[in-house]
Amino acid sequence: MKPPRKVPLIQAPTPLHRLNRMSAELGIDLWIKRDDLTGFGGGGNKGRKLEYLMAAAIDRGAEVIVTCGATQSNFIRQLGAACAVCGIRCSAATMQLPYEDARPTHPALKTTGGNVLLDGLLDVDMRIYPDSTWEALYANAEDLAQEYERDGNKVMRVAVGGSSAFGAFAFYEAGEEVRKQCEENFDWIVFASSSGSTHTGLAYAYRGSSTRILGIASDPEPNILEDFAKVGVELAEILGVSPMSAQDYEMDFGHVGPGYGIPSDEGLSAIEWMARTEGIFLDPIYSGKAFAALLDRVSKHTLQGRVLFWHTGGFPSLFTLPE
Ligand SMILES: *Cc1c(COP(=O)(O)O)cnc(C)c1O
Repeated sequence: MKPPRKVPLIQAPTPLHRLNRMSAELGIDLWIKRDDLTGFGGGGNKGRKLEYLMAAAIDRGAEVIVTCGATQSNFIRQLGAACAVCGIRCSAATMQLPYEDARPTHPALKTTGGNVLLDGLLDVDMRIYPDSTWEALYANAEDLAQEYERDGNKVMRVAVGGSSAFGAFAFYEAGEEVRKQCEENFDWIVFASSSGSTHTGLAYAYRGSSTRILGIASDPEPNILEDFAKVGVELAEILGVSPMSAQDYEMDFGHVGPGYGIPSDEGLSAIEWMARTEGIFLDPIYSGKAFAALLDRVSKHTLQGRVLFWHTGGFPSLFTLPE
């Protein structure tokens, strides 16, 4: 296998350490992987994917990258930082919240402060559209890309969350990184899962081992595992192995709460407990909900032994919680 080229952005390996007070309280052997501490663009799991994505952008001679996502997207913030480093213009079509049929019942994150403040510092050309469906947002992103093209720019289009086989490859490597840091096997690796690079990469890295790779859905989208399987097919080609199918991914959909992008009460409690017990900040949309799921499973004895919680970052959105 020939690994794809990458632009170094993050400080890897990210720290991995035991959570001593929580382990004692929960009666499990709980560890944490600190992808919130990548040392790049405010931290978070997207830095790993961006090392490959930016190499592809440079190889293609991209002058502008156009993407889309939630207004308080952690991906857009880290992409903005990566674009700054590479001298590429970054533009994003965003909306506060997606809704398909009815308006969400709970308030979303604010559209100022947090990641949006950092995006401003990074000079991301951020366009905020009215809340609608993802399809409508994709169409807005395409208009934005064409606007840049009409002005004579070479544009690269990047999907929501930057998910691609290269992104998944970055997490396949992250799985290897953990093996090097820590010889003893984990029974479980638990993390927030959404666009699929993290989940797909880790699932391939631990395939056939006794470690169970458990994603906690941040998004209620039921067909998401089919999308992971598609990304996985391309990853399997890069790795030269046979592809995994949608049923091979273990995902818990029970902790999305009021919906994608909306804080949940149990997530907020989990954030508080993590802060007060270990001095670590989780985020309200992804890692807080994932950690709440971990706690729920420990209390129901469906998760025990030696457990690694993968901190995927996102803490700037703590500053944008609704009143
Ligand atoms: C993007 C993101 C995730 C989900 O990662 P994917 O690889 O897109 O599934 C989880 N946590 C945080 C904080 C994120 O920003």
